[in-house]
Amino acid sequence: MERIDTLLINGIVITIDANFSQFQNGAVAISGDHIVAVGESADLQARYTARETIDCQGCVIMPGLINCHTHVPMTLLRGLADDLRLDVWLYGYMLPAERKFVSPEFVRLGAELAAAEMIRSGVTCVNDMYYFEDDIAEALAKAGMRALASQTVMQFPTPDSPSPDDALESVTRFIEKWKGHPLIVPVIAPHAPYTCSGSLMRSCAEIAEKYDVPLHIHISETEQEVIDCRRDHGMPVVNWIKKNGVLEAKVICAHCVWIDAGEMRTLKNAGATISHNPAANLKLASGIANVDQMLEIGVTVGIGTDGPASNNDLDHFEEMRLVALLAKGSTRNPVSVPARTAVRMATLGGAETCHIGALTGSLEVGKRADLIVVDLRRLHNAPLYAGPANPDAIYTQLVYATKAADVRDVIINGKPVMRDRALLTLNEERIRNEANAMGQRIATFLGEREGDVLRKLAAIGGVQQEESFEVQVKARVNDPATIIAALKGSDFTVVRHVHYRQYDTYFFFADDDSRLRYREDERIDEAGKPISNRYRLTLVGSEKDREFSHSILLSRSRFISSADRSLRFYREYFKPEREVSVEKDRLRWEMIFQDEELFLNLDQMVSPKQEGYYLELKSRTWSRRDAERKAQVISDALARLGISDAQVVREEYVDIAAKK
Ligand SMILES: [Zn+2]
Repeated sequence: MERIDTLLINGIVITIDANFSQFQNGAVAISGDHIVAVGESADLQARYTARETIDCQGCVIMPGLINCHTHVPMTLLRGLADDLRLDVWLYGYMLPAERKFVSPEFVRLGAELAAAEMIRSGVTCVNDMYYFEDDIAEALAKAGMRALASQTVMQFPTPDSPSPDDALESVTRFIEKWKGHPLIVPVIAPHAPYTCSGSLMRSCAEIAEKYDVPLHIHISETEQEVIDCRRDHGMPVVNWIKKNGVLEAKVICAHCVWIDAGEMRTLKNAGATISHNPAANLKLASGIANVDQMLEIGVTVGIGTDGPASNNDLDHFEEMRLVALLAKGSTRNPVSVPARTAVRMATLGGAETCHIGALTGSLEVGKRADLIVVDLRRLHNAPLYAGPANPDAIYTQLVYATKAADVRDVIINGKPVMRDRALLTLNEERIRNEANAMGQRIATFLGEREGDVLRKLAAIGGVQQEESFEVQVKARVNDPATIIAALKGSDFTVVRHVHYRQYDTYFFFADDDSRLRYREDERIDEAGKPISNRYRLTLVGSEKDREFSHSILLSRSRFISSADRSLRFYREYFKPEREVSVEKDRLRWEMIFQDEELFLNLDQMVSPKQEGYYLELKSRTWSRRDAERKAQVISDALARLGISDAQVVREEYVDIAAKK
């Protein structure tokens, strides 16, 4: 009798080998980190004496599930912001929270939480992509999980890298450190075509090839990404990454919701694989990937959950079920992606997707012992039609009826990590407490931000805090020609003159007296044609600091930020109580008067339509004493332009518009 470490007996063994072999009273023999035999229980019991024998009566013994795409630390962000559009979710909530909290400690805790959850749902291998991947790899290895640890590379500064050059250097060190580890496969992850330049892509592919490690990337998750790629590069996304050498590496593409048949063929021919992530694609309304066609063309497709903040869990049984159901619903073909195919995609297909199909994914002699025992004795699994007469019934049972909570035992690389639903490598209570404490800190940060428009503005980045005061006055003007003629006089030296069409949208808030203005400045040339557009956000207080004579006002500090997102984004992010829009035609002069720089606007309200013209005179100032002097200069300028006190208007355009 040969001595081995572990013998699992009396279970229905599904091997996911090339013939989908099953053993109704089956057994699996494990020695060290690998499988030494798979067969009937009686045969294996006769051949082996095991240090430990596990009775699997009423259970399935099957390969562990493989999560082909996720961001494990984002477990800590799950439930933080849901039912939002992708850009509001990402730029409004995820990135600000990540900027503030992501650290080596954060990713370790998140990885532990994820590992506990994944092991509980029968996942033995995960392909992660995040920052501080070295710490994630440490945490996952300590939990006993097999993992592809994909270190993110981006064109922009990230929480763990100030520049792409630094990112390439640290990913190289990371690969050198982990290459050859029994559980961890280091992976390079240029985040996506829209966050990496072509040359950065090329550098990543070269590193992947040099070290023979996989390359993990997000591809065509949204329709917009494809539209942008065609606009910017004149070709589909897959063609563009191919042009930049990416397909020379062992590539894992996450999503591929919006690729066409030609791109699928290109991926197949390059040996590139796809992680299909149905729950996240549904939740963020990205669409439904055409898995049916991918499989028909022959692309290797595995299943991923994507990050828990966009899913919101790591339940791989649920994901497997979605794959089988969605394929049918979206093609209206009930035989699309049968249960057996879905189970293969979740196991060996997943291993192949991760380019480790020779190592794991099926129960075959010589492969690593990554397997799970699933208890089919609970009510929702009864009755069980599985048997030699109906070999597919076990797959339909697993896909359509079984729950993640039915997973009883998990063995990875020959070592048990869960027995009788008790985790052996992770302290669930500590992880839960620490995760809840972290959640509280993040909630406090976001809570303080809500109800404070300035903090919300700062949270999405790019506020140029301008503590500059402005002295200004506004007046009604009946005949603009007299003003223009006066400006040609010797008292005024015009430095610059421009013509704009201005589209302003003001957001008002219930619990904050400031107002936020989204402005589109459309520059008009001398022929009256629009030539360029500029978008800005300005946060202004509603109160004035001081009023001088002639209703010349000193305005409070303003905060200006360039607005690189859509008006719709800001509306959904700031959630104003009320909005007012103003459209006007503006002639603007920058000029010197009495040795001071003044700005003069000659405006006509187009919408809401208002008869006549308005004149605004403004000057920047930096102290109260200076403000007094500027107020005097403006007062003199008003007189020079022939404006009387009776013409002075105290209201802002938004107030005039609001009354309409
Ligand atoms: Zn992702």
